[in-house]
Amino acid sequence: MAEKLVVANWKMNLNPHQASLLVHRLDQKVTAGRSVEVVLCPPFVDLYPVARDRNPKKFKLGAQNIHHLDEGPFTGEVSPAMLQGLVDFVIVGHSERRRHAHEDDKLIARKVAAAVRHGLVPILCVGDNLFEREHGAARKVVADQVTAGLSLLTAAEIKDTVIAYEPVWAISQGDGRGSYAKPHEVEPMVTHIRQTVEELYGEGAGGEPRVLYGGSVNPDNVTAYLEIAGVDGLLVGGASLNYEQFAAIVAAAQAAVHSK
Ligand code: PEP
Repeated sequence: MAEKLVVANWKMNLNPHQASLLVHRLDQKVTAGRSVEVVLCPPFVDLYPVARDRNPKKFKLGAQNIHHLDEGPFTGEVSPAMLQGLVDFVIVGHSERRRHAHEDDKLIARKVAAAVRHGLVPILCVGDNLFEREHGAARKVVADQVTAGLSLLTAAEIKDTVIAYEPVWAISQGDGRGSYAKPHEVEPMVTHIRQTVEELYGEGAGGEPRVLYGGSVNPDNVTAYLEIAGVDGLLVGGASLNYEQFAAIVAAAQAAVHSK
């Protein structure tokens, strides 16, 4: 397993032509290395062009969402069975889906389990919002999301799971309007997530899932986040749409591994 994982969440951006162009540009800028696993998560319509045009030695593929069932009368949905063989990873429970699509912990747990059942690595997103943080509820909210999100998995399945800590108040702050999460705010939450997993699954389990940080990561702050104890990588939104910025983030992750 690579020592760091860098995941690009393109969100609802780029048509198939634009997605192909970005992949070509990324291929020119990003150097392959065993130390860092790079995963691109385009919108569903872009998965085929990106799968076709990417260099698979450099880029793995992920989806941004899945349905929790394999097939059926669910117009507009995409099932994990349909993604099998096309992607390796799937983002589940992103705060934007919790907020805009009203996904709750119960549904998210079913999606995580569905991903695992189909051999896809779930990237379970958890995170406190500003209100929760200001009212001292952040730790409980995050522990509850981790507990619920993993609740349908066995202990053996935990090691192939990724948990992304994404404080909602720190997402999409790239335009300088709001506040970035400071590494000293992220570190205790990452420890807390690992302790929660340890309590759920027993001794040693806390070290098993890969834990990412996500929230306005850019080439200037990336190294500080990578230095946080317990952080195995990054989930990158806005900056992943800019090939120069994303390549710089991947290069920083490679440098972080090699400087150890
Ligand atoms: C995200 O939404 O997963 C994310 C990390 O976005 P951004 O990097 O733009 O804050």
